[in-house]
Amino acid sequence: MQFWNSPEFDDHEQVCCFSDRGSGLRAIVAIHSTALGPAAGGTRFMAYMNEQRALDDAMRLSRAMSYKSALAGLPCGGGKAVIIGDPGQIKSEELLHAYGRYLNRIGSVFVTGEDVGMSVGDIETLRTVTPYVGGTSSAGAGDPSVHTAMGLMHGLRAVLERQFPGAKFREIRVAIQGLGAVGWHVAEQLHAHGTQLTVSDIRSEQVERAVARFGARAVDPEDVHRSDVDIYCPCALGGVITEESASQIRARAVAGAANNQLASPQAGQALAARGILYAPDYVINAGGIISGMEEYLKIPGRSGKVDDPLSVRLERIHDRLLEIFDRAAQAHQRPEVMAEQLARELIGR
Ligand code: NAD
Repeated sequence: MQFWNSPEFDDHEQVCCFSDRGSGLRAIVAIHSTALGPAAGGTRFMAYMNEQRALDDAMRLSRAMSYKSALAGLPCGGGKAVIIGDPGQIKSEELLHAYGRYLNRIGSVFVTGEDVGMSVGDIETLRTVTPYVGGTSSAGAGDPSVHTAMGLMHGLRAVLERQFPGAKFREIRVAIQGLGAVGWHVAEQLHAHGTQLTVSDIRSEQVERAVARFGARAVDPEDVHRSDVDIYCPCALGGVITEESASQIRARAVAGAANNQLASPQAGQALAARGILYAPDYVINAGGIISGMEEYLKIPGRSGKVDDPLSVRLERIHDRLLEIFDRAAQAHQRPEVMAEQLARELIGR
């Protein structure tokens, strides 16, 4: 397995691998940077093709968490954990307890929450053995996806201001890819503003619900990026913007919650070459971690208080995105390149 030589390594401060034979637990915790505070990042539970993929995913996502927290102005660093295996097959209370005990060994430098394959309920289970968790209903702001969607709405306002000056939400058309926890809330809020929606999901029942509830137009999952809309909003998987898909997008902006939307730097170049504005994912999808801060600051080893009410803190996503769009335009750079540059300055890299 490649570690120091992996393209995702980027001078990670610490990477730990754990296993527990009894429960079948195999987990990796990657801590990219603690320059701004102890690392925060979710735990992803997935059946990876091999261990290298799992390690690279943990390191890629933990670096993105460093960037996300830094650009959201949060007093925490970036980390991420992966548990290897099909959660439908191997997830058990015993496994989660074993994982929680390992989190205690890492201690206060890493706090985790839900991600793909982990529910808020699983985090509540972890909480029974470790204090180093956040994003729960019992101790915190509750389901982070609601706040991720609210933050995304603030980000979409910034996208409107820069790419569709003067336009209101009721005058634009948005295609949402993925009607899960975040995508559904975004659809609800856009619908409330009168936006015309196009939707897709591999779960046909979700699509039918959205058609009935929001009067949305349904499209096949493989065609959603080609929709004739103003904004394409990926809220399902990462890697959806490739050089090929970028050449087919008809929207004038891409702004959604999915992590790691750009499959490569070339995909970002392809969007920019066609005049499509891209809202860097880790900036526009920071609402969940912003909402977890009150709970995070109560965890042993942390101190400090949040400054403003959550609604005000979520609004800052709008301001940060405008700053990134404007600085990128002045420097003739792409927004994702400017965002990375700013984030790396903030974490001293
Ligand atoms: P989720 O699992 O609840 O929803 C994902 C949805 O996408 C599901 O409905 C699924 O059926 C659908 N989907 C899967 N493949 C698809 C495809 N090919 N085409 C269309 N739909 C497809 O996840 P979520 O919590 O809503 O998160 C969505 C994305 O946002 C993920 O990439 C996640 O990493 C990212 N994100 C989530 C949060 C959060 O607070 N939940 C925060 C930041 C980033």
